[in-house]
Amino acid sequence: IGLGYDRHRLEVGPPLILGGVTIPHDKGLLGHSDADVLTHAVIDALLGAAALGNIGLLYPDTDPAFKGADSMKLLADTVARVKAAGYRLVNIDTNIIAERPKLNPHLHAIRESLARTLMIAADAVSVKPKTNERLGPEGHEEALSAQAIALLINENG
Ligand code: MG
Repeated sequence: IGLGYDRHRLEVGPPLILGGVTIPHDKGLLGHSDADVLTHAVIDALLGAAALGNIGLLYPDTDPAFKGADSMKLLADTVARVKAAGYRLVNIDTNIIAERPKLNPHLHAIRESLARTLMIAADAVSVKPKTNERLGPEGHEEALSAQAIALLINENG
């Protein structure tokens, strides 16, 4: 089992991308890559479950190669690393902490997008939006954060 967490600053300007899906909103996330906070949390959950390191170690934001990077490509690379290490992904569960926008209308698209890259069924991908009751950086719409947990099976026993 692996646990992932990420938070990015929310500002007017950049697009809001969650799980590879661009969400219409008046603000977006700042970051060296495309700042897909949900996908970053999922990557760290997978790397954590397989004890393969962490997102900052494998895809450093000091490396110009990852400037503006499509986080779904990083996730695809992580999936390949996890598989090469002898693990099979069973399911993931995630939380997105965002005061706005309302994410329920986008859950189907986000789950399908993550499932495609994770190479598992969409019903093995759970995405749960939460508000922060107007408290803290997420509640003040200064940031958006995500949590993820992943279950792997070691195919080598
Ligand atoms: Mg990040």
